[in-house]
Amino acid sequence: GLEAAPGKAEEGRIFVFVRLRPMSKKEKDAGSRSCVRIVNRKEVYLTEFASENDYLRLKRVRGRHFCFDAAFPDSTDQEEVYATTTSELVERVLQGQNGTVFCYGATGAGKTYTMLGTTDNPGVMVLAIKDLFAKIRQCSLDGAHSVSLSYLEVYNETVRDLLSPGRPLVLREDKQGTVAAGLTQYRAFSTDEVMRLLQQGNQNRTTEPTRVNETSSRSHAILQVVAEYKVEDPATKSIITRVGKLSLIDLAGSERALATDQRTLRSIEGANINRSLLALSSCINALVEGKKHIPYRNSKLTQLLKDSLGGSCNTVMIANVSPSSISFGETQNTLHWADRAK
Ligand code: ADP
Ligand code: MG
Repeated sequence: GLEAAPGKAEEGRIFVFVRLRPMSKKEKDAGSRSCVRIVNRKEVYLTEFASENDYLRLKRVRGRHFCFDAAFPDSTDQEEVYATTTSELVERVLQGQNGTVFCYGATGAGKTYTMLGTTDNPGVMVLAIKDLFAKIRQCSLDGAHSVSLSYLEVYNETVRDLLSPGRPLVLREDKQGTVAAGLTQYRAFSTDEVMRLLQQGNQNRTTEPTRVNETSSRSHAILQVVAEYKVEDPATKSIITRVGKLSLIDLAGSERALATDQRTLRSIEGANINRSLLALSSCINALVEGKKHIPYRNSKLTQLLKDSLGGSCNTVMIANVSPSSISFGETQNTLHWADRAK
């Protein structure tokens, strides 16, 4: 779990994890070798060479060795990823705090598998809600609690409701933060129902016109879960309502944003680069550097997360990578990006 309690020094700290997925059949058939090795569940070695000797030699070379809060080898199951990255956040949401988990990485690196998973191997989104259900029942007074979900997409700076597809949604600022006007708030009752709902929602994600069966690599999917329950205030003995929000985000593929990380905003727009992904990077950099001003207003994604990133919010990043030497460049970019978020 997240070992350190969020004391003063921890404020704004982002917990960063790396998950390596198994080599796919396609990658094996193409004759690719593995270029990523995970040691001690924390350290990640990246190499273009594959022999054991090369790894040992590279251990002494700077820049190709990274260390994270945890790194998951390709054999790690969904439960372990959930327990290590997110279960502590669920606890804090039940204390009335907000928290955010991102999956970051190139297209095909395993973001959707990690977040949504499959019916047989449900991912972080489903396991988090299951855990929330179990825990909220224990701590709420006389069963007065609710778990509500909304699932939305940011694509090309347009926000859409994935549970009720239709017109783009307009974002409005209110006292609590940013709200998407007209967004469906779904009252959830069981985990099976949630899995079905999210799978349906995922099918509503935007597809590229040329590849109608594949989710666009430029689409961000955002699940927001609001947990609300009544509890006796230990100090005053009066009944109070506790509300916490958990945001779970399957980000757009990082490949194009990374290639242009250093460009100016204008050329980014010219090249139709993902503005939300770039704005998220800026916000994360500002948070990590301890800046007072966090530029939330630069994109729809960061506007939506204004009340869930930074300050006393808990932020977790899971960087997904492929083991294949074919993806060496993308993996390197992802690891550098994740390294900067620490
Ligand atoms: P992304 O969402 O980052 O584009 P996906 O999650 O769709 O990538 O993963 C690409 C492929 O790899 C999918 O077929 C997925 O089922 C598979 N995959 C990803 N991660 C794992 C894993 N940890 N174990 C098994 N299969 C995985
Ligand atoms: Mg995906």
